[in-house]
Amino acid sequence: MTNCPVCKMDVEEKKARGTSEYKGQTYYFCCKACKKKFDENPEKFADKK
Ligand SMILES: [Zn+2]
Repeated sequence: MTNCPVCKMDVEEKKARGTSEYKGQTYYFCCKACKKKFDENPEKFADKK
C-alpha cells in the first residue's frame, strides 16, 4: 500500500489508475486526474525527503 502523492489517498499498487516515474521513484495515483496533476508539476507533489 502506498498513497497518492496528489490527494494523499491510500492506493494499492496493483489497483492504481496510473503511475509515473520521477527521479527514479515510482508514484501511484488514485485517478487519472491526479496523475495529470503530478505530471504537470512533479516537483510540487514528489516526496520531499
Ligand atoms: Zn489522488
